[in-house]
Amino acid sequence: MRRARLGPIAIALAVLGAAVPAAAPLRAGGGADDDKPKVPQDDCNPRSPTTPLTVVYEPYWCPLCIEEKLQKPEARDLQMMQKPVAKVAEQLSIKKEDWIAIQTPHYKIFSTLGPTTSKYNDSVYARFDLDRLKKIQPGIAFGPEGAKLTAHQRLHLYHIRLERQYAHFSALTNNTQPNLGMPGIFEIYLFADYTQHHDFVDRYIGGRNDKGGVQWHIQDKPNFLLLSVAESIVAQQVARGDGALANHVFHNTAHLLIDGYNNYFRETPAWIEEGLGHYYERRENTRWNNFCWAEGKPPTDFTKPDWEAIIFTLVRRDRDSPFAQWCEKLQPGELTGIENGLSWSIVKWLIDTEPIRFTKILEPMDDLQRNLKPAELIQDAFGCSSSVLYQRWREYVLKEYAGK
Ligand SMILES: [Zn+2]
Ligand SMILES: [Zn+2]
Repeated sequence: MRRARLGPIAIALAVLGAAVPAAAPLRAGGGADDDKPKVPQDDCNPRSPTTPLTVVYEPYWCPLCIEEKLQKPEARDLQMMQKPVAKVAEQLSIKKEDWIAIQTPHYKIFSTLGPTTSKYNDSVYARFDLDRLKKIQPGIAFGPEGAKLTAHQRLHLYHIRLERQYAHFSALTNNTQPNLGMPGIFEIYLFADYTQHHDFVDRYIGGRNDKGGVQWHIQDKPNFLLLSVAESIVAQQVARGDGALANHVFHNTAHLLIDGYNNYFRETPAWIEEGLGHYYERRENTRWNNFCWAEGKPPTDFTKPDWEAIIFTLVRRDRDSPFAQWCEKLQPGELTGIENGLSWSIVKWLIDTEPIRFTKILEPMDDLQRNLKPAELIQDAFGCSSSVLYQRWREYVLKEYAGK
């Protein structure tokens, strides 16, 4: 085991973010807009918005789906933490009826989460995800505000969300290796209660602060990355409900994906790490933001969901710290509060406007012989210094964020 990163604790924000109407169409187009391309908004390849993104949900293996005859019977000895998953549950004293574990194309997911109502305004993509869920769980019913889900159905909603995020990241980085290059498949632990999360961290990772999402690199072969979260912590410190938990999972899973990219034996620059964490949560819902900074506290400058307006003001008043001063930082905890928000904006700008060059920054990260520092990665990909890149970003912010 190499190192863990203290996970973030998402922050409750009272102001409601943008919500999609409950009756949002599944696909762009339809009706009078029939001539528009029929591409779901969240299924666009980040490298080319006109290319549909292929998201793979199958094959998956779920003992409950087999029991309910939704899947063909297949005996499988599912291993998590490099042992039969039932052994993990037993070691954590979790009763047989209180956990479910499944394997999806790119994850093993263990869950003790209970039933929930998944609301349409939990995420911009909530309705799309529920429509996809209905294909593998035909029993779910849509109500006026959302869908009521059993614990089993809810686990498959995470199956769908996590695969959607994986597909986006894999397309963005043009990385089609199994597990993005990790020898072992990513493992996700979704615990209902803090005690279960705490016991898990205590037993398998070692006594440490676990009051947030915990990521860990198991280095025994085949090495893999895991994430453990607890819904009760998110409910207490962020907001209740499945949407807030989902944002917490998206943020933390972004860390797994970028660290796992090309196998994890180096550091990821902190601005990329946190920028991607915020990018993947905020594209779902801007209300629930997670910080791997100051034990999860929201920076005072970023307590409202409208980060564009905050960043515009910072830049206009020259209150943003020059990128060259902080782009070399490697630990997310070393970023200041303002640098957390700026990281999001820089990463989003690069993904929106220069996705291919953005991933050119990532490609040499694992070249331990060249061993490029963060500013050198930027120089390599963009042919300019971090200061020049930052100046271009500032101009973009002053133009594009004005009046937002
Ligand atoms: Zn199932
Ligand atoms: Zn983070």
